Amino acid sequence: MKRAAIIGGGIGGLTTAIALRKVGFQVDVYERAPELKEVGSGMSLWPNAVRSLDQIDPNILRPLTSRDRSLRRLLMKDTAGERIKTLPLPAEDCSGFSIHRAELQSALARFVPTHSIHLDHTFSRLEQRPKSVLLHFENGASAEADLVVACDGIHSAVRKSLGLQTKLTNRAYSVWRGMTHINSENDARHLGLENDGDISESYGHGCRFGILRLGPGRIHWYAAANNSLRPPDLPEGEVLHKFFSTWHAPIPELIENADSAICTKVQDRRVTLPWVAGRVAILGDAAHPISPNFGQGACLAIEDAVVLAAC
Ligand SMILES: Cc1cc2nc3c(=O)[nH]c(=O)nc-3n(C[C@H](O)[C@H](O)[C@H](O)COP(=O)(O)OP(=O)(O)OC[C@H]3O[C@@H](n4cnc5c(N)ncnc54)[C@H](O)[C@@H]3O)c2cc1C
Repeated sequence: MKRAAIIGGGIGGLTTAIALRKVGFQVDVYERAPELKEVGSGMSLWPNAVRSLDQIDPNILRPLTSRDRSLRRLLMKDTAGERIKTLPLPAEDCSGFSIHRAELQSALARFVPTHSIHLDHTFSRLEQRPKSVLLHFENGASAEADLVVACDGIHSAVRKSLGLQTKLTNRAYSVWRGMTHINSENDARHLGLENDGDISESYGHGCRFGILRLGPGRIHWYAAANNSLRPPDLPEGEVLHKFFSTWHAPIPELIENADSAICTKVQDRRVTLPWVAGRVAILGDAAHPISPNFGQGACLAIEDAVVLAAC
């Protein structure tokens, strides 16, 4: 049986592990983190990712899809909450839906045998041999495989070790992803949404705020603002309030009562080929990190895994 070693146990790595097992590979996943813990925030999975995961195994997503998480209409608003436009989201054969990254990661991990996931294994270097690749990890371990797939994210160490271009472009805006629980019998109305499947985005000058439901009372929101608008000396914790405190309800309340909020200064990389060198392939953010404006980074990593396994 051919052996595949996957570097990185994020969305791309675990999906690749499942997809390669389905086509007959023996798979080992090597992940830097000491545990696959609840990190990240909410995200949107669009139809390209839903179809791709269903193609691998329809049971992966089945327990996670529900009507109140589907993404069917985008309500576009101004800062006062007035509707600018209603945009139907393409949903012919399937709709996208909102999900917490940790939920998706756990759902994927259930389809990979526990003994195949090696935590606390930080990739350090590789040696390409005529018929295999030898991998070395910072903990002193090594492993040999017929195929290596690097899914180690935007700062990929494997990409660097292959001598591929690593320069990132600063996109001059920041994104915050937050989670807030609300106690409201009619949480959709409280959020200014009309139907199951509605999400909203509100727009100001250089700023944007989006609201999605992750199930009853569990709200995922995101905010974006151009870095040039940040007052220079404002403490990080006050930046969101500065931008959004006068926006329509319930935006200030969602920020104020957030359980968590993660800020990312957005970077990406001009897409350059190759994505394969000898017996090593790179995918997901390691190959093509993309601005979160598209909501497509994880979706594309999932598509990559399906295409790689088909190849
Ligand atoms: C603000 C924001 C919002 C986003 N929203 C969305 C969205 O709505 N929809 C969407 O599809 N995408 C979204 N994305 C993008 C998405 O999060 C990423 O594109 C996706 O997680 C990429 O998956 P990946 O598996 O390639 O990399 P990652 O998720 O980064 O996983 C890489 C894994 O490799 C491990 N690793 C790193 N280095 C090593 C090493 N040396 N050795 C071993 N392991 C290593 C890491 O610990 C990690 O587990 C968003 C991104 C941001 C920043």
